[in-house]
Amino acid sequence: MRVTIFGTGYVGLVTGACLAEVGNDVICVDVDADKIERLNHGEIPIYEPGLEMIVTRNHQAGRLQFTTDAASAVDHGEVQFIAVGTPPDEDGSADLQYVLAVADTIATHMNDYTVVVDKSTVPVGTADRVSQAVAQRLTARGVDIPFAVVSNPEFLKEGAAVEDFMKPERVVIGSDDEQALEVLRALYSPFNRNHDRLITMDVRSAELTKYAANAMLATKISFMNELANIADRVGADIERVRVGIGSDPRIGYHFIYPGAGYGGSCFPKDVQALGRTAQQVGYEPALLNAVETVNDRQKGYVFEQIQSHYNGNLKGCCFALWGLAFKPNTDDMREAASRRLMEALWAEGAQVQAFDPKALEETQRIYKDQSQLTLCETAEAALEGADALVIMTEWNVFRSPDFGHIQDTLAAPVIFDGRNLYDPVDMAEMGFRYYCIGRPSID
Ligand code: NAD
Repeated sequence: MRVTIFGTGYVGLVTGACLAEVGNDVICVDVDADKIERLNHGEIPIYEPGLEMIVTRNHQAGRLQFTTDAASAVDHGEVQFIAVGTPPDEDGSADLQYVLAVADTIATHMNDYTVVVDKSTVPVGTADRVSQAVAQRLTARGVDIPFAVVSNPEFLKEGAAVEDFMKPERVVIGSDDEQALEVLRALYSPFNRNHDRLITMDVRSAELTKYAANAMLATKISFMNELANIADRVGADIERVRVGIGSDPRIGYHFIYPGAGYGGSCFPKDVQALGRTAQQVGYEPALLNAVETVNDRQKGYVFEQIQSHYNGNLKGCCFALWGLAFKPNTDDMREAASRRLMEALWAEGAQVQAFDPKALEETQRIYKDQSQLTLCETAEAALEGADALVIMTEWNVFRSPDFGHIQDTLAAPVIFDGRNLYDPVDMAEMGFRYYCIGRPSID
């Protein structure tokens, strides 16, 4: 099938590469000329496990092309995917300007029946707005070309995006247009061989399903963080509580890890946007508001622990920071808990020596003029001359470090662990002052 994809970010590039991988002829179009040039030179602008290999393979085979030329890209595709960003607007609602701009571009150049697929995460009612934008442009052109707008929200996880796309748990398609549904059924059939993973529904339900999924996951995290803070105060160990409740199949072990708060490009903005949608229809989203409040507080928690350990005097302190990305296996720094921590430390006059296996380049791009930040090529280098170690991302490589070396290198054996990677008893036995989340600290 001939497919056009607008947006070559985490979602668009993965979608394009995976659809090309199963034999489709894909053109990815982006307004970012620099990104397109890099892609055309074989450079992958983001880190995502397994992505480079399939992009390179399909690009070389001619099944995956990159362009800034929207006219030829629209002309190419029977199916046009919208996979551009939907960042938060000033009031927290999703900013649809990029989605609607793409709808207009598609309508400006399309000549035959076109299936417009909305893959970006968008509020309920957006498919109607996309339809209106397309219809308006067609009317302005004085042409009458049939089209359908389908909602096909994306559920891939950064860090496992290729795997998730190739072996999806579900593919949600919202449409009442039988012809469009057939096109998407055919497009997704290579990913649907083992058992039927296609869930079809009306457009509005599909749009809401994406927000419901992210809001549910964010709620689980905030719930566990709330419990961790209670555990902390009553002398209980949240990790034991976690295992205790996870054993109930109605609760399950997934996604109930306490930590330094959720970040990333999706949970914070999607919880906010769903809340604004609720308010716009006259419903006060009490639970969603609480999920956000708890997360916001949690993102400041490690900093509070640090401040309290140093009696509020952080000026001149130097911290080794392991983990910058908002979660492991990605270079994405959007809304990362590490950013909030670093900015708070800098405001107090502290220095940060940071290491991350994949996010150093992105950190450099964001904080290029920050003199209180040193980016280190190894985890060990970050420890040199530091007063304490802080862990903000649970990369595997941090799980079993050389504790003797950490102790010998830091000015004092102090670790602030925002991801509960180690056992507090072991840490105390080794002589560390170990701060973690929701577990009794042992002196
Ligand atoms: P991103 O910011 O990584 O990429 C968006 C891309 O769209 C950018 O390269 C930008 O230049 C491009 N773009 C903007 N306007 C354009 C236009 N008019 N024409 C062509 N390209 C244009 O975003 P992302 O993380 O891939 O997310 C895209 C959407 O998918 C968002 O709605 C997001 O909420 C949703 N989503 C993201 C994830 C994720 O894990 N990142 C998962 C599921 C859904």
